[in-house]
Amino acid sequence: MTPEFILFHYDEIGLKGGNRSYFENKLKQNIKAAIPKGSFTSLRTVQGRLVGKLSERGQKHISGILSNMENIFGLAYCAPASRCPQNTDAICDQAFALLKEEKFSTFRITARRSGSDIPFSTQKMNEDVGAFIVDKLKKKVKLKNPDLACFIDMFHKHAYLYTEKTSGPGGLPVGVSGKAMCMLSGGIDSPLAAFYAMKRGARISLVHFHSIPYTNSASVDKVREITEVLGKYQKGIQLYTVPLGPIQKLIRTETDEKFRVLLYRRFMIRITEALAKKEKAKAVYTGEVLGQVASQTLENMAVVEAAASLPMLRPLIGLDKREIVDRTKRIGTFDISIQPDQDCCSLFVPKHPATKARLKDVEKEEAVLDVDTLVQEAIEGAETEII
Ligand code: ATP
Ligand code: MG
Repeated sequence: MTPEFILFHYDEIGLKGGNRSYFENKLKQNIKAAIPKGSFTSLRTVQGRLVGKLSERGQKHISGILSNMENIFGLAYCAPASRCPQNTDAICDQAFALLKEEKFSTFRITARRSGSDIPFSTQKMNEDVGAFIVDKLKKKVKLKNPDLACFIDMFHKHAYLYTEKTSGPGGLPVGVSGKAMCMLSGGIDSPLAAFYAMKRGARISLVHFHSIPYTNSASVDKVREITEVLGKYQKGIQLYTVPLGPIQKLIRTETDEKFRVLLYRRFMIRITEALAKKEKAKAVYTGEVLGQVASQTLENMAVVEAAASLPMLRPLIGLDKREIVDRTKRIGTFDISIQPDQDCCSLFVPKHPATKARLKDVEKEEAVLDVDTLVQEAIEGAETEII
């Protein structure tokens, strides 16, 4: 039996009071953007869930649609369903039509109702439909771990029946939290930071710094590939690639080598913030992890952050490498990240960088550079594309 509907259940957005319809509309937009055009003849909000009526085309592509839903933040789960009027006879017939095509020995019925206008209890519905199926199909009821569960959702004058649920990734719909910049290095960590930004509803733009021609272009190619993978969570990601080489050359000749990486980072932040202004982004995400490398001590993060005026967000701050590796393998960015490249931060890097730099020492070094002009020139050299 081909399902005519898909029910979309969200959990957290249900809690958002006055903003609820804003959240629901973003979720709807994101669902539509992730599936072939014309898959639904309608997609409506009905009593705290979305109900999509599948077109003929949508029915043909249903497995593809469902697998795309695994990446739509804000979804708890979705279910392909068939629909019937809200009375016991119709529901029994519909359950029979649905289950007679399935292979199973034991089953349970799980009815739910929303709204106070439904004149029968879910317990009675479970019993009546269960008895009907036992009688017609000669199967056994088993409440714990049955082979098959048949769900009956009753709301808004109809009953929707289904046996399969596809889990969504949870979180909030991309876009509801506004925009954010993510600094993407091509390494393992920063793609996960971008993932977490999107997971909590930020719409991201990415910034990557390279040192071409002092390095090869491998990091830029990797970052494009990583952006493509992240595109399964957000359609159309703006990627900025910015040359940092000229600034790094000056830092090398004009300043104390032990502060080099910190000075690179302070420039990266300023340039990222200038791009954030264009993008109307309200925060900067990085993949920093406390204590992972010399530039990520509390002292050095403070020195870098002092160059920022937007909030700097570090969703990985408390994760171990193993956790990060596991999660990026699941997202699909890990294998790209471990390809060899020439990271711009390793250009001209000394053996012994400062691990506990003091802001005033770093500022003193930086004072010999024409910061504003260098930032401006880097932005003029930036390239951008939508992936
Ligand atoms: P990653 O795997 O993200 O590169 P990492 O452990 O190598 O992390 P660092 O290279 O010290 O850490 O960088 C810390 C963070 O600074 C990165 O997660 C990223 O957000 C940002 N960053 C570093 N290098 C770049 C770059 N070339 N372009 C953009 N952002 C960068
Ligand atoms: Mg790195």
